[in-house]
Amino acid sequence: MSTDALKQIRYLAAALKAPRITEAAARLADHARDTGWTHEDYLAAILEREVAARNASGAQLRIRAAGLPAVKTLDEFDFDQQPAARVPIHALASGAWLAEHRNIVLLGPPGTGKTHLATALGVAAAHQGHRVLFATATDWIARLTEAHNRGRLTEELARLRRYPLIIVDEVGYLPFEQEAANLFFQLVSARYEHASLILTSNLPFSAWAGIFGDQVVAAAMIDRIVHHADVIALKGASYRLRDRGIDTLPSIKAEQELP
Ligand code: ADP
Ligand code: MG
Repeated sequence: MSTDALKQIRYLAAALKAPRITEAAARLADHARDTGWTHEDYLAAILEREVAARNASGAQLRIRAAGLPAVKTLDEFDFDQQPAARVPIHALASGAWLAEHRNIVLLGPPGTGKTHLATALGVAAAHQGHRVLFATATDWIARLTEAHNRGRLTEELARLRRYPLIIVDEVGYLPFEQEAANLFFQLVSARYEHASLILTSNLPFSAWAGIFGDQVVAAAMIDRIVHHADVIALKGASYRLRDRGIDTLPSIKAEQELP
C-alpha cells in the first residue's frame, strides 16, 4: 500500500478513535492483494477486527465494573455434578432471557455452584453487551438503605434499572429487618418486567417468609420474581468439600434436604 494512503488511513482511523483499523489496514493489504480479495472483502475484514476488539474490551470493562467476587465461566462448570441444570443453564447462555426481562433463581445447599453459575451468567451477559452489577443481598440492602437515608431511593432504583442485570447473591443467609425487607421488595418491584435479576438462595421459597419476616411481603415478592423466571434447583454435596470425606457431616446432610 502506498505510504500516502497509509498515512491518510492512520489519520482517519485516529479521527474515528478506531486505532486497530490502522494496524489491520496495513497488515491485511498485502494478504488481500495476494489472495485476490475484493474491495468489499478487504473493508469487511478490517471493520470486523475493529468491532471484535471493541466488543472484547467493552466486555472486559463491563466485567470489571460488575463487582463479581471472581470471574467464572460456564465452561468451567462441571455439569456432571449438576446434571439437571445442564439443559436449563445452556438454554440461558444466549442471553435472550435478558431481552425479555426474565429472572433466574438458583436454589440449593452451600457449595453447589449457585454463585459460580450466577457469576458465569453475568459474565456471559457482559459479553453480550449488557451492564451487570453483582452484590450479596446484605450489600444490596446496605446500598438501598443508604440511598433511602439520603432521600434518594427512587433515583437509585431508577439508576439501577438502567442495568439490564442485577445479581443478588445469598438471599437468606441473614434474615432481613422489616425496613430491609421493604427496601428489597421495592428493588424487586422496580425491576419487575423492566430488567432482570438473578437471585441465589440456600433456602427454598417456602422458607422465605422467615427471611423477610412477613408472609405477605414474601408472597408478593416471590410472585413478582417467579412470574417470568427460570428456577433452577441445585442439589447434592458441597463441591468445596468433595473428595474430602467430610461431605457427610450431619449439618450438610440436613441442608441437602432443601429444595
Ligand atoms: P454456592 O454459591 O452454591 O455456595 P459456589 O458457586 O461458591 O457455591 O461454589 C463453591 C466453589 O466450588 C466455587 O469455587 C465454584 O467455582 C466451585 N464449584 C461448585 N460447583 C461446581 C461445579 N459443578 N463445577 C465446577 N466448579 C464448581
Ligand atoms: Mg455462594
